Amino acid sequence: MSAQYPGNYGHPPQGYGMPPPVNKGNMPPNLPGQSGIIGPPGGKPAMFNPNQVQNGPPGPPGPQGDNRFGAARGAMPGQPPVGQFNGVSGAPPMRGPPPLGQMTPGAQPPNTQFSGMKISDQHGPPPPMGQNSQHGQNFPSNRNAPPPMGGPPTSTATFQGGMGPPRMGPPPTSMGPPPTSMGPPPTSMGHTPTNMGPPPTSMGHAPTNMGPPPTSMGHAPTNMGPHNMGPPTSMGQPLSSMGPPQNMAMPPTNMRPTQGMGHLPNMDPPQGMGPPPSRMGLPQSMGHPPSNTSAPPVGGPHQNFGMPPNSGASQFSGGPPPPSGFNLSPGPGGFPPPGHTHGPPPTSMGGMGTVPPSSQYNAYSGMPGQQQPHDQFGQAPYNNQFSSQRPAPQQQQPRKLDPDQMPSPIQVIEEDRRNRSDLFVTNAKGAVPPLVTTDYSVQDQGNCSPRFMRSTMYNIPCTSDILKTSHIPFSLTVTPFAKLKPQESEPPLVDFGELGPVRCKRCKAYINPFMQFIDGGRRFQCVFCGCSTDVPNEYFAHLDHTGRRVDCYNRAELCLGSYEMTATKDYCKNSVVPKEPAFIFMIDVSYNSVKSGLVNLICERLKNDILVNLPKEVDAEESEIRVGFATYGKELHFYNVKGSLAQPQMLVVSDLEDVFVPLLDGFLVKLSESSAVIDSLLAQIPQMFAESRETELVLGPVIQAGLDALKSAERSGKLFIFHTSLPIAEAPGKLKNRDDRKLLGTDKEKTLLSPQNNFYTKLGEECVAAGCCVEMFLFPNSYVDIATLGEICRITGGNMYKYSYFQADIDGDRFLEDLSRQVQHSKAFDVILRVRTSTGIRPVDFYGNFYMANTTDVEIAALDCDQAINVEIKHDDKLSEADGAYVQVAILFTSVSGKRRLRLHNLSFNCCSQMADLFRSCELDTLVNYFSKQAIRNMLNTNPKQVREYIMNEVSQILACYRKNCANPSSAGQLILPECMKLLPLYSNCIIKNDGIQGGSEISTDDRSYLTHLINSMSVESSSVFFYPRLLPLHNVDTETKELPSAIRCSTDRLQDDGVYLLENGLSMFLWIGHNVQPKWVQSVFGVNSAAQIDIDKCQLVTMDNPVSQRLAEIIKEIRMDRHRYLKLTIVRQRDKLEAWFNHFLVEDKGLNGSASYVDFLCHIHKEIRNILS
Ligand SMILES: [Zn+2]
Repeated sequence: MSAQYPGNYGHPPQGYGMPPPVNKGNMPPNLPGQSGIIGPPGGKPAMFNPNQVQNGPPGPPGPQGDNRFGAARGAMPGQPPVGQFNGVSGAPPMRGPPPLGQMTPGAQPPNTQFSGMKISDQHGPPPPMGQNSQHGQNFPSNRNAPPPMGGPPTSTATFQGGMGPPRMGPPPTSMGPPPTSMGPPPTSMGHTPTNMGPPPTSMGHAPTNMGPPPTSMGHAPTNMGPHNMGPPTSMGQPLSSMGPPQNMAMPPTNMRPTQGMGHLPNMDPPQGMGPPPSRMGLPQSMGHPPSNTSAPPVGGPHQNFGMPPNSGASQFSGGPPPPSGFNLSPGPGGFPPPGHTHGPPPTSMGGMGTVPPSSQYNAYSGMPGQQQPHDQFGQAPYNNQFSSQRPAPQQQQPRKLDPDQMPSPIQVIEEDRRNRSDLFVTNAKGAVPPLVTTDYSVQDQGNCSPRFMRSTMYNIPCTSDILKTSHIPFSLTVTPFAKLKPQESEPPLVDFGELGPVRCKRCKAYINPFMQFIDGGRRFQCVFCGCSTDVPNEYFAHLDHTGRRVDCYNRAELCLGSYEMTATKDYCKNSVVPKEPAFIFMIDVSYNSVKSGLVNLICERLKNDILVNLPKEVDAEESEIRVGFATYGKELHFYNVKGSLAQPQMLVVSDLEDVFVPLLDGFLVKLSESSAVIDSLLAQIPQMFAESRETELVLGPVIQAGLDALKSAERSGKLFIFHTSLPIAEAPGKLKNRDDRKLLGTDKEKTLLSPQNNFYTKLGEECVAAGCCVEMFLFPNSYVDIATLGEICRITGGNMYKYSYFQADIDGDRFLEDLSRQVQHSKAFDVILRVRTSTGIRPVDFYGNFYMANTTDVEIAALDCDQAINVEIKHDDKLSEADGAYVQVAILFTSVSGKRRLRLHNLSFNCCSQMADLFRSCELDTLVNYFSKQAIRNMLNTNPKQVREYIMNEVSQILACYRKNCANPSSAGQLILPECMKLLPLYSNCIIKNDGIQGGSEISTDDRSYLTHLINSMSVESSSVFFYPRLLPLHNVDTETKELPSAIRCSTDRLQDDGVYLLENGLSMFLWIGHNVQPKWVQSVFGVNSAAQIDIDKCQLVTMDNPVSQRLAEIIKEIRMDRHRYLKLTIVRQRDKLEAWFNHFLVEDKGLNGSASYVDFLCHIHKEIRNILS
């Protein structure tokens, strides 16, 4: 199998440093119309043109309103988007017309029904470009930027001085205007000078109603329920005017090396640092008796569950007393003691040994105010690692910080793995889950799995004052359809029959384990609003002596945190039961697409390698998903693949101003019923378009037609669009090339990162209203304006994949793997997500890729297992420690078999009145996830400097608050960090310096927008490794174990010349080979004698017949399986040019673009904290 990689971003071109292929431009060598050819490609004399035969659009789609969630859904305006032309025809062509190819008579397509296909068009043999074998020149985009004259990407860039970002010439210009010699456009094509100026860029952002004021204005706050969203207050402007981190190189003079020296030896030694002494206060909320957490993994039917809504109790000792009979000993070694379930183990200032598994956490008395676990850095940072001398009392010279003295992510990750790699039982309110990097299993006992929902905090301050003072945002990251471990159970489906889901009569919350049954079981009291609701007769059950229903453990909705319910007609659009969803595959058949091998590849592999993975219900024999096929260039072609036909039929839509799908019957079919016709179609498409000369593409009408097809068929579903270039052909959705990479990193970058007009934004809104999700697979050779095109994906919840300079033979497998996973992982369609919270808190803002027509309902056309939505929560009243706080996320969706369902995730929290308790229960990975999405939003509304300063200020405020309120008095020169947030400075610096957030002109505009889109919907698991990559040493890999090697810190200082390391961040994967690597290792893995002989362009690692090679292959395979996108492996030799790009991912170091190193950043934050405190 050949190496593949996800997204092009982040991948150095294979031939990095080598001359690029010569002919990789967008232009075909031969242009229609130039050679006396018979008619432009568009003219299809014999073709059936529905526009001429069949007038009038198909029946109007039904209204969009529905009463899901009991509330009217904001109907999307039904009118089609007005065609928008930029009135700009693009820059003058930069490239001259290619030489004409020789003409050869058109070959008749095999199928006469495709009369139109008789490509009487010219067929020049494809230019002699195919052979060029520059592959994967993706990333360092500028290195591959095509030369001004439209040549293929050249890799002339060099890293000057090894550090500066490669400066390349101007952005690719190959998008130029269409060749003028093209035949006349179909008359129907718009000359409509509807010229819409580009809308204010800031409007384009859809989450419009969720955001901060500038973006949220557009939507009327209709349907504001009890959870009205106020304007987010946390979005504020950056408060400080801190200088950029780069200025921090010098340790602040006020930090003196002498202070606290005594601690040095114990501080965070590189390894072996044990967790903290038990004396440190225990997280109060942990307070569950050990037995609680150690419930037997399989234990009977949920016997451990039992979180009475009112159990606020657990402050100091036992958690909510579960029903009697509650668990017993788990067995020795069992699960982590309660102490572990909660928060961070106190850290070891004293640095002694490892903490015994449990005992030390049991005896705590959890006094608030007791000293908190934390790390202290005082002089430590100034301890000169290279000097054995004690620092002088006065700082006399700048000293270099010893990185080993600074909090290590590796240590934190390893410690959590050691302590929490087993069962996480969700029976405790406010239990902090293991880190996402820990390999744990979950047993649902009343709260949802952390895979579905994680919070930045699990002990919520009772008052907004405490929360505001802390500056810690309260945010949930919800991944509603997260993939579970094989040993974990999917949420079960509950069917209430005609009765429908049982809900609170006031706030409409769904029945869940926290609802309290009263009055002998005749009513239940809502945990969210307090209202009592009568229990329907059909649902009645008696209560036992503890007040719980006797059938409690037999009903998933009464004992599990996550479950699904069958929805009745009331939950369907227009009260009509939905049909099975459909997938429409829409293939760009333009010149570039054909030449790169894409068309051929898709057609060859789609049916047997991709469609076989269509999602289906667990026990179903076959998928119910309907499939349809279309191709397009400057016009659209739909195919009738009805099973009864002998051959597929093509229908052409050439009027692109008002597209509709000419075909109702036979377009969307079941795979099994049309297998032969589909085979025939896929065999014919590559032949039909083999000689395509089309270089101008449309995209707007393609999406409109796909949307129309789904609407006409009354199905929700997905459009899989395989697209190569900027849509410059005259049609709705036409775009101009406005790339100007120089703006990146400047105050003006937001104009470039915002859509150039609102066509795709508006179209996206129409799509989401119809349950039409757009999955975009891009294969660009130059700028395609992802900031604009991406809107359609962002609003519909679609994913984007990007394969720059795609070549089927090189990148094909990676693309197919991504496509296959995307098809397979589709879980839910026509989704509405709603968050309900208990009294005192409410959701105020949402982040992610979706649409909101009102302030409460998050609409997503389709959801897969990796997409996450962030919900920011604020107080609107006081909370009580006794009651705790509750959240319910309800996801109404259509399943892969067309069933309307609800999926519910419930989570309970502790509440606290002490700042210290808040700081014990924070979850840093979720906080980082939230900060990154907030940064994306700020990036589009402010400027890079403000984004950076905002983050630095918030981080400083959080840490200063901890220092002021929770730490023992100590010298001001000491940096004291809360245990669970000791990596906050490191991770926030990683956000700041990430290419998606602070990328400058060293990355392409499209890569920047692409990353922005990805980050916006990342789950915590994905963002965790994305911002701090995983770096694994492989030179001494243990071939006997199945465990991955222990990771090391991302810094060049950690790399040995004779080492080999694998680095991955969920998007990219590199194998770095030191120049002194053992020849034996190289021989084992690559079959050559030295590193110099390794063909790094091969990009494939062939498994050889020896343990090292095999173990390496297993490791790479395992990592790939873990990630949602297929990681392409790039081999980097130490000292090769490519190394500069690899170093870019060593995030503890100073960045290529001058971004701060961890050491410098920490110093700067320390200074800021001191400023705040003084
Ligand atoms: Zn209620």
